[in-house]
Amino acid sequence: MKSEIVAVGSEMLTPFRQDTNSLYLTEKLNEIGVTVAFKTVVGDRRKDLVRVIQTALERADIVILMGGLGPTEDDLTREAVADALSLTLRRDGALVAALHARAAAWRISMPQNNLKQADVLEGAVVLANQNGSAPGQWLDMVYSGYRKLVMLLPGPPHECRPLFDNECLPRLGKIIPERHIARRTLRAAMLPESQADKLLAPIYSTYADVETTILAHAGDIQLLLICGKPTMEAARQRVDELAGKLEEALGDWIYSSQGESLEQIVLYYLGLRQATLAVAESCTGGLIAQRITSVAGASRSFVGGTVVYSDELKTAFAGVPAELIARHGAVSEEVAAALANGIRLQTGASVGMGVTGIAGPTGGTESKPVGLVYVGVSDAQKTEVMSRTFRGDRQRVREYAAQYALDLVRHRLM
Ligand code: ATP
Ligand code: MG
Repeated sequence: MKSEIVAVGSEMLTPFRQDTNSLYLTEKLNEIGVTVAFKTVVGDRRKDLVRVIQTALERADIVILMGGLGPTEDDLTREAVADALSLTLRRDGALVAALHARAAAWRISMPQNNLKQADVLEGAVVLANQNGSAPGQWLDMVYSGYRKLVMLLPGPPHECRPLFDNECLPRLGKIIPERHIARRTLRAAMLPESQADKLLAPIYSTYADVETTILAHAGDIQLLLICGKPTMEAARQRVDELAGKLEEALGDWIYSSQGESLEQIVLYYLGLRQATLAVAESCTGGLIAQRITSVAGASRSFVGGTVVYSDELKTAFAGVPAELIARHGAVSEEVAAALANGIRLQTGASVGMGVTGIAGPTGGTESKPVGLVYVGVSDAQKTEVMSRTFRGDRQRVREYAAQYALDLVRHRLM
């Protein structure tokens, strides 16, 4: 079954507000096997609304409208649905009484306007709103010879979401055949997105019944696999089978087959090896420490580190010889090695990591361009340095550098 979600509200056509309810609803719909084929955002103009509703009814079986159920002049969803479907609106006595009771409980007099929240579409079921004054409405009807489900939900997220969960989902469950959803998330580091698709598309495209989504961000690739089947066992089996093939193709790039983050995996390996980590960060300015310490329980394996931005602090806090910096420059293989080794010795950690690079936008030279990053990883056996040049703005270079550094530590620990 195909659905369309319509967010109603002129504020969502400004740069200041976004429709976020639909993300929530999409997840819930997908779980019961309903695809979201269209999402529309429309302002509070009756004519536009009517047109959007008619378009939605022509291309989707389920139409969910959110917003515009309030008491003000610009709340027009009920009226627009009535126009679009040539239905009448009737004022519901019980709802009028409930509005009066609500106003009395708040000790306010009820403005005449509020009464329109008691208007119910011909043939609609009223959906109780526990968190606000405007109830939702549910229409199960025939339009141009086809069965259509139309839902009207309030816009405020704390009203829309529970109302959908409590009133719409159970009703949908009775109409849509039961399905069980299995999902898996695989994650890979430092694999370019274009390469990922070339490598993976031939595999996942043969599993038409598993929905595969690739999300890429700063050197991190997430593969979301979702499959719905009449039984959980069947769904899991398909997802696991595809995951197995993708894992094999991803080889060294894959770091997680159950959705864990790269920092979680690094901490997992540190724990496994009974090793500890310390970091000396220059261009990443603490991003790596931030990521690692965002994991609960990080203190078992992460001792800490320093942000050594100036040459002086590289020497004072990470023990990098001043003459090494003078000879090779702060962004160099030698300094990355000395940072990694130095912070390890200063802190007593078993693994040290040092990161130095040119985040830009200025500071690059012919031989050391913006985006050049050196990462040193040091343990009692050896100190190694790797380097990469990342393209993009300052933020992107820093995020890539942090990802790259964490991935190198992962490789050392594996
Ligand atoms: P109200 O009784 O509050 O007027 P309403 O049903 O008329 O309810 P709106 O006026 O459209 O809803 O929206 C009320 C609030 O909810 C606004 O702050 C709006 O930004 C927020 N909101 C509306 N729709 C969405 C949406 N799709 N995603 C996130 N927030 C939304
Ligand atoms: Mg409103």
